[in-house]
Amino acid sequence: MKITNITPYVSMPINDLPWIFVVVDTDEGISGVGECSDYRSTGLLTRGIEWVKRELVGQEARNIENAWQTIFHTFDDLNGRGFVSHLISAIDIALWDIKGKALGAPIYQLLGGPVRERVPLYTHVQDWNSDAGGPDDAAKAALATKQAGYEAIKTDPFPTDHSPNAGYSGPAEVERLTPESIRKSVEWMEAIRGAVGPDFELMVDAHARFDVASAIEAARALEPINLVWLEEPIHVENHNALRQVRENVRVPLCIGERHFTRWDYNEILNNRLVDYVMPDVAWCGGISELRRIAAMAEVQYIRISPHDALGPVSIAAGFQVCMTTPNLYRQECLHTWFDTFEKVINPMFDVRDGSIYPTDRAGLGIELNMDTVQRYLIDPDTREYLNIDSADEDATGKWIR
Ligand SMILES: [Mg+2]
Repeated sequence: MKITNITPYVSMPINDLPWIFVVVDTDEGISGVGECSDYRSTGLLTRGIEWVKRELVGQEARNIENAWQTIFHTFDDLNGRGFVSHLISAIDIALWDIKGKALGAPIYQLLGGPVRERVPLYTHVQDWNSDAGGPDDAAKAALATKQAGYEAIKTDPFPTDHSPNAGYSGPAEVERLTPESIRKSVEWMEAIRGAVGPDFELMVDAHARFDVASAIEAARALEPINLVWLEEPIHVENHNALRQVRENVRVPLCIGERHFTRWDYNEILNNRLVDYVMPDVAWCGGISELRRIAAMAEVQYIRISPHDALGPVSIAAGFQVCMTTPNLYRQECLHTWFDTFEKVINPMFDVRDGSIYPTDRAGLGIELNMDTVQRYLIDPDTREYLNIDSADEDATGKWIR
């Protein structure tokens, strides 16, 4: 079964949230879909897929590992990470979809079969910086989310300091948390904790924004909230700095969405620098790599919790690994996007009471609804809609509600 074509579709059914789907066709009429969505690099990744197409068309579609290694080693001057592991992820997911369809089995069966009956999810309420109200609004959203059946929530409670002394306080620098910012973040989390009760599971995401001193002070101030984890407390490049944070806080730590392939995880896991890891199946190297990283974490008695703030193909792919992974915590989702997912894929995955349940459908178990994907196509460079004026005209969804 030879690969005959590889086609990227950049579709944006929710404004400012582009999803990159990649369809791989074969000469036996079986097609698979992958995803490597990225918030900013749509043009770069789309051109990368065109290069991958030149390498892989004519290759055997069943040889997933060979395709993985081909892309990784061809781009080894880029160390196989980031842009490269995004490309690998999309192809790897699509080839697993094809293999499952060819064999008439869900991917989770090909990975060894389920170790659980369902995959529990965690979801989000608005972040402090999201313009979606104050702590009381976040608390209301948290309570509504709990009442909808979810058992765990994540939020970023840290205000960005825009005072004159703060510098740029944005992408141009490592941010500092002032005592005032830390007080506001504690108030944000106290409001949420008060709404959902003492036993509901809460995570805090720092989005790799802060310096070491800020991260340590914030973690100590948030200790009474009883968090499951503090995520990416500092920028991710310096493991000695991460060790310094770890040795000075009692809150469990989690990192992973900015780490790619098993090699990025090797040192972190061997040195036991965190308590959870969260690889993203559409960025870390696909289904093959997520499974390998999960096994490496299992050796260290560390749970994985796949990062998943992307489109529906990504969730369907991560779910396949989660079904077979003993050391799973939860899979991430933004449940407010599920209404949009229902328009983009067919059938929608079986989501009930804060979990996704397996089906017997072959491969990923979903197909792209191409009418919807085509309707919301954008130019990958300018991000202008090609077929409509705005996704808002369909009221398809918001980033966070
Ligand atoms: Mg995060």
